[in-house]
Amino acid sequence: MHGPGDVRVEERAEPVIQLETDAVIRLVASCICGSDLWPYRGIEKQSGPTPMGHEYVGIVEQIGSAVRTLSVGDFVVGSFFASDNTCVVCQAGYQTACLHREPAAPGGAQAEWMRVPLADGTLVATPGVPDPSLVPHLLAASDVLGTGWFGAVAAEVGPGSTVAVVGDGAVGLLAVLAARELGAERIIAMSRHRERQELALEFGATDIVAERGPDGVAAIKRMAGGLGADSVIEAVGTAESMAQALHATRPAGHMSFVGVPHGVSLDAMDLFFSHVHVHGGPAPVRRFLPDLIDRIWSGRIQPGRVFDLALPLAEAADGYRAMDERHAIKVLLELP
Ligand SMILES: [Zn+2]
Ligand SMILES: [Zn+2]
Repeated sequence: MHGPGDVRVEERAEPVIQLETDAVIRLVASCICGSDLWPYRGIEKQSGPTPMGHEYVGIVEQIGSAVRTLSVGDFVVGSFFASDNTCVVCQAGYQTACLHREPAAPGGAQAEWMRVPLADGTLVATPGVPDPSLVPHLLAASDVLGTGWFGAVAAEVGPGSTVAVVGDGAVGLLAVLAARELGAERIIAMSRHRERQELALEFGATDIVAERGPDGVAAIKRMAGGLGADSVIEAVGTAESMAQALHATRPAGHMSFVGVPHGVSLDAMDLFFSHVHVHGGPAPVRRFLPDLIDRIWSGRIQPGRVFDLALPLAEAADGYRAMDERHAIKVLLELP
């Protein structure tokens, strides 16, 4: 990305092993993230041309001499942060706050090849090379499914919960799927877009709320016993969506936030008197990957349904435009 609205596909040097803990993978598929739209829209400043992309599945082509758990030829899924998966913070399940964390795709994952640092701790091999029909689902696990899943776990979704999801992007939609898998009884998806409402229902939403702001909060409270939802998952990152999520959570309920916040501040008095538990951050996708891969491999979940447009990598600029203009929920980039 050369600047806001300016995405170009260019020839760059092939990545090589730099440290003995690295792997080099050949990507099988990549995609564009909702968070890539922040710099695309100029809301997040970049200092210069930046390689883009952090969601990936691929085949291991080279490994450093210290890599133990992976072999050349493995099909792998990884998260957007590289982690050692051994430090005290990783052991607590927060690999995205690893003491040695670094970007997993320093050269960008919207590419044919990438170098992955801390390969043993970062990448998870699938049971074999997947059927092509599974690739979009595994790719979704790399970020949006893992992030939606963390949203549900961080909001303490469990059997019988009433859950509301703020945000109908890929993460919000997959938070609906996660809530269903975790046993929620009532799942309220907030969306004003017909296609997204339909996908939310397919993923397990029981109700749709199209209103926003105070009207949206009132609608959720009406559906959830007058008090608000037990668990609310915020998957946007704006001041409006955070306020909506917080006010839609019942007293002493749980609210998670997994949209990267931009211009958000919370009112401490709101938090103080509501007793709402608030937890969020960059999802430790690595924690969930083995379980998510199992669920995908067995055909239990199809998170790749969020990809409603597939384009060759060479047409990435069109993919950004489609997501920016909301013609597409999420764009898969096909590799040659
Ligand atoms: Zn992402
Ligand atoms: Zn760690």
